[in-house]
Amino acid sequence: MSQARIMDGAALARRTVEETARRASALRERTGVVPCLATVLVGEDPASVTYVRMKRNRCRTAGIASRHVALPADITTAALVAELSALSDDPDVHGILLQHPVGPHIDERAAFEAIAPAKDVDGVTLSSYAAMSFGLPGFVSCTPGGIMRLLDAYDVDPAGKRAVVVGRSAILGKPVGMLLLGRDATVTYCHSRTADLPSVVREADIVVAAVGRPRLIRGEDIKPGAVVVDAGYSAGNTGDVDFDTAVTRAGLITPVPGGVGPMTIAVLLEQTVTAAERSTDDGRLTADG
Ligand code: NAP
Repeated sequence: MSQARIMDGAALARRTVEETARRASALRERTGVVPCLATVLVGEDPASVTYVRMKRNRCRTAGIASRHVALPADITTAALVAELSALSDDPDVHGILLQHPVGPHIDERAAFEAIAPAKDVDGVTLSSYAAMSFGLPGFVSCTPGGIMRLLDAYDVDPAGKRAVVVGRSAILGKPVGMLLLGRDATVTYCHSRTADLPSVVREADIVVAAVGRPRLIRGEDIKPGAVVVDAGYSAGNTGDVDFDTAVTRAGLITPVPGGVGPMTIAVLLEQTVTAAERSTDDGRLTADG
């Protein structure tokens, strides 16, 4: 029985963060500017608190300053918008991350739109989404961006391939499909109303699972040799793909954990340094992407 090659997201993330740290240090030496990410947390949801702490810790390892803004769970949309607008106007802040979900009483879209596109390093604004869809420069949603970096690192060229994206959320499924389309894949989206999901998945040269349902996708439905990217994460370190059976059919596969997850933070840090570079005159001349 063949075994897929494992796409090691943890190792790629380490290399990406090292390179980001080098860029941050070069920027500091050249201009005195220290890249700064503002993290905004509404309430004290334990998972969100942990995610924000992880992101701030990783900032430190990359030479990025972070500024934390902790807001009460009952904050109004208007007050949250005011906080985000102030950060958008603050020249010492280069990237803004609003940890979501923010609570059902808040208009999340209004909050995201208060983030200046030049500081939208988490890729959540309509402007960032449009730029990505049009193939224009801008910041991408971090998990989709991380998935594309993984494909590139393992020499997967999406052009001409049939890509099936399972899940269509605004932060993950939809943008990753748009990025694959931008790289000339033939993209099919699946979701909760898709009829006969296995038959669609069986056609895929590239499968991206972005649902949050443990082992929804079974190995028997993976086309032999396919590239399987599992962005799903459920309690007990479980992905959306039944790894043990899929690994015997896929050509390349991401593990959970250690696949897509680490790349998400790596892209966030990378985009924060890019935002800082672009905020300086010489950054405007040299930053790519
Ligand atoms: P979400 O907003 O809940 O979206 C889930 C998507 O899955 C929806 O589009 C939904 O369809 C679809 N879906 C639900 N049940 C399905 C089924 N039985 N068959 C096919 N599609 C189905 O979730 P999300 O925020 O995109 O996150 C998805 C997963 O990725 C979660 O496990 C999350 O933890 C993980 N994630 C990981 C990272 C990371 O850094 N690694 C980052 C973000 C998310 P409808 O649209 O029809 O409802």
